[in-house]
Amino acid sequence: MDSYDVIAPATGAVLTTVPMNGVEETDAAIAAAERAFPGWRAVAPGDRARLLRRFAAVVDAHLEELAQLEVRNSGHTIGNARWEAGNVRDVLDYYAGAPERLSGRQIPVAGGLDVTFHEPLGVVGIIVPWNFPMPIAGWGFAPALAAGNTVVLKPAELTPLTAVRLAELALEAGLPEGVFTVLPGRGDVVGQRFVTHPGVRKVCFTGSTAVGKSIMAGCAERVKRVTLELGGKSANIVFADADLEKAAAAAPGGVFDNAGQDCCARSRLLVQDSVYDKFLELLEPAVKAFRVEDPALETAQMGPLISAAQRSRVESYTSAADVAFAGSAPDGDGWWFPPTVLLARDTADRHWREEVFGPVVSVLRFRDEAEAVALANDTEYGLSGSIWTRDVGRALRVSRGVDSGNLSVNSHSSVRYWTPFGGMKQSGLGRELGPDAVLGFTDVKNVFISTEE
Ligand code: NAP
Ligand code: MG
Repeated sequence: MDSYDVIAPATGAVLTTVPMNGVEETDAAIAAAERAFPGWRAVAPGDRARLLRRFAAVVDAHLEELAQLEVRNSGHTIGNARWEAGNVRDVLDYYAGAPERLSGRQIPVAGGLDVTFHEPLGVVGIIVPWNFPMPIAGWGFAPALAAGNTVVLKPAELTPLTAVRLAELALEAGLPEGVFTVLPGRGDVVGQRFVTHPGVRKVCFTGSTAVGKSIMAGCAERVKRVTLELGGKSANIVFADADLEKAAAAAPGGVFDNAGQDCCARSRLLVQDSVYDKFLELLEPAVKAFRVEDPALETAQMGPLISAAQRSRVESYTSAADVAFAGSAPDGDGWWFPPTVLLARDTADRHWREEVFGPVVSVLRFRDEAEAVALANDTEYGLSGSIWTRDVGRALRVSRGVDSGNLSVNSHSSVRYWTPFGGMKQSGLGRELGPDAVLGFTDVKNVFISTEE
């Protein structure tokens, strides 16, 4: 089998090599997952739950190792990477509660008994991007396994290391062979095979909107189930009545976390006219204080971008734009880029419209609530967003008015494993996490049993 180099984004050096799976290896892994399925779905609910809890415990025992691996492979700050490994553990624990609770219904009918079952689908294919390798993998595989499916997972080419390790830990926890397989390789080879292979019954994809559309089209061929978590261009709306100090202090974290390589990044900053100048004055020191440094340092708030290509892409947005101010970043080796604040001339600016996926925020002013909502909705995306105001009625009106799957008021938090997450419009299809995610890995079966003599 071929192999390829994995690069450390903080230095540009080769970290290790991993196998490059091709179609043949993918087909073999899918066949193994198909063989493992009948046994896995037949594991008693309490036993499947216990195995998932044990998997969570093994992840917990290796939390620091996984976090350090992510720092090296993805350039995530050590603080973030620990949260990410902990998130895999928590998501496994949470969905370990699902097998014994996957109840159907009993529906009143004449002449018999009618019951529904939530049947697992079979083999589920999960395609993961490079920006959050561990959490996004876990949001797919944990509920899929809990519902009784077997899983094949393709990590991003750039960031396969933690996923490969998680598959080893699953075996260590006692999951049977073939239940959870990780296949590093190319998206257009391994990922594409998940789409075309008749044995894969659902594809969970997270990544770019362009690839997501092609996956949805490919899945249509076999009416294959599909979940899409795609791009975003989320608004951070600051009203004049907000706690401006707090909003300004929080704004950098809301967009520069993970070097802005976050589909939930609040990359469009909308500030009400009357406080626009004051807000930018408060924002400048917060941006300049944002610590961009070696991600292994405990003090780091931001590390490098994932690749040289991603850095050129980000640069293409800032080079011709009107820069208000920027923070600093190390120079030398690695794919570093400073946190940057751009002034949008109007809504036609490319950096205002397109997902940059880097530490770049665009600022625009608005007059009133109606204009803020209209500007926030003037995008094909609808993933997340924030609203800063002290007026409860306004907070609720704007939350209902913005077409986005995940909003936060006076906060930038988007993700809790026990609340649903996903996008409206071209940001995605379906929801992950929360109490209902397991149902997305099942089909409802209705059975009528006659009681007639
Ligand atoms: P991408 O190309 O959509 O990649 C996401 C995943 O899909 C990777 O595992 C990729 O494999 C795989 N893939 C690529 N082409 C495929 C195909 N034809 N069939 C099946 N799978 C395929 O995204 P990217 O290139 O990493 O990033 C590009 C842009 O997408 C970013 O700049 C950002 O705007 C957006 N993005 C969004 C998210 C999000 O969370 N919503 C995450 C990442 C990126 P390879 O690793 O081999 O390419
Ligand atoms: Mg790509």
